[in-house]
Amino acid sequence: MEKQPIHVIGGGLAGTEAAWQIAQAGVPVILYEMRPQRFSPAHHTEHLAELVCSNSFGAMASDRATGLLHEELRQLKSIVIGKADEHQVPAGGALAVDRGQFSQDLTQTLAQHPLIELRREELRAIPEGIVVLATGPLTSPDLAEDLRRFTGMEYLSFFDAASPIVVGETINHDIAFLASRYDKGEAAYLNCPMNKEQYLQFWQELRNAEQTELKDFERETAKFFEACLPIEELANRGEDTMRYGPLKPVGLSDSRTGERSYAVVQLRQEDKAGQLWNMVGFQTNLRWGEQKRVFRMIPGLENAEFVRLGVMHRNTFINAPQLMLSSLQFKNRPTLLGAGQLIGTEGYTAAAADGWLAGTNAARIALGKEALTLPPTTMMGALFEFISSASPKHFQPMPPNFGILPELGEKIKNKQERYGRYRDRALSDLKSFIDHKYRRD
Ligand SMILES: Cc1cc2nc3c(=O)[nH]c(=O)nc-3n(C[C@H](O)[C@H](O)[C@H](O)COP(=O)(O)OP(=O)(O)OC[C@H]3O[C@@H](n4cnc5c(N)ncnc54)[C@H](O)[C@@H]3O)c2cc1C
Repeated sequence: MEKQPIHVIGGGLAGTEAAWQIAQAGVPVILYEMRPQRFSPAHHTEHLAELVCSNSFGAMASDRATGLLHEELRQLKSIVIGKADEHQVPAGGALAVDRGQFSQDLTQTLAQHPLIELRREELRAIPEGIVVLATGPLTSPDLAEDLRRFTGMEYLSFFDAASPIVVGETINHDIAFLASRYDKGEAAYLNCPMNKEQYLQFWQELRNAEQTELKDFERETAKFFEACLPIEELANRGEDTMRYGPLKPVGLSDSRTGERSYAVVQLRQEDKAGQLWNMVGFQTNLRWGEQKRVFRMIPGLENAEFVRLGVMHRNTFINAPQLMLSSLQFKNRPTLLGAGQLIGTEGYTAAAADGWLAGTNAARIALGKEALTLPPTTMMGALFEFISSASPKHFQPMPPNFGILPELGEKIKNKQERYGRYRDRALSDLKSFIDHKYRRD
């Protein structure tokens, strides 16, 4: 019997990888890409896998989070990382590419595959059959509306107003104290106390810090966000505005001193293991370097490492923890899979990683095989585990980082050595996954 083609919607990084993996598994695929008929506000070419902004896939060393993800994808024969390696340009320690050659080569390679049909068409509704949805952060409005009907209103966001996330062990616990406001429930927040002088200095620096330029389409969306203002905008509204908002000190006394502070910055636990902490109310448009400089003025955060900095931009994404499994299948329709920024992972390399698993599993479903999940000790597995099991209430997109990996059996103080151990464990577990599960059949 002839196999029905799988539908992949969106020819970005995730969709390109997914379509390739499906075809390589011997299953026909139709890849729908709306460009050049219709362009998102950030895309400018008709090529597949267009890089909408920077030409970098992140740090290359395999003891860095993106570097480990590159290496895992190489082991899994990712087409996106394969072509990135081929079209690499010098960029210090980063995997940067000649963006034109990279996208053109991918477009030609996919178009020549006998099992891939590239259709230049905008899909306005999710089709029947086995489908990979990979339409990205700027999914076209009609399809977003259909997705909203499918997921339910509250599970689709159009704007990403994310606060920075700090690595727990880089917070100074001699200063930050664990408590909930009015001691309600379990102490779930780390609190960074400020005296008046520290607060006023911080307030001044925040007002003077440099902001990113919003693109026209982002300026348009930003006006809907009165309820979720950037921290620097609160600072601009007056000396005390932050103290009556996210930095209010009431109900928060440090049990070690019994004193109430002039202002308090709260950090909420982001992951089950308590390795990642989210700065409450710190969504921001400040430049990344400025965020690091100014937020490290907060007592307790002087040596903070950030796994993600704050952003406020247009971003269509679903509430993956509510809707998806770590195999990237939708819980209520296992023949529908998701990949890319739309499912709440962040960055080019993560999009390729999602595409690899969604494509691999779509093909396996078509071939009557069980869907796979990756070992949670790999960067890919940890990312998929995180997006499918994080708290749905505060879910925001997550880039690859070491804070989402399960802890090592022993404490290793030296960061370089620790990250090296994470890498060794990840690559060894990935090898046994490839040998025993992926290649088995
Ligand atoms: C302005 C902007 C700048 C960014 N800068 C960076 C950066 O510098 N570095 C980084 O790592 N990440 C960056 N990102 C995040 C980046 O988008 C993702 O990391 C990555 O491009 C996501 O890949 P994707 O495949 O999910 O989506 P995309 O690459 O956006 O691909 C989605 C594709 O789906 C197509 N499509 C949409 N709707 C339909 C439809 N209905 N029918 C058919 N086709 C459709 C689109 O035309 C597009 O080709 C940025 C995002 C934005 C919005």
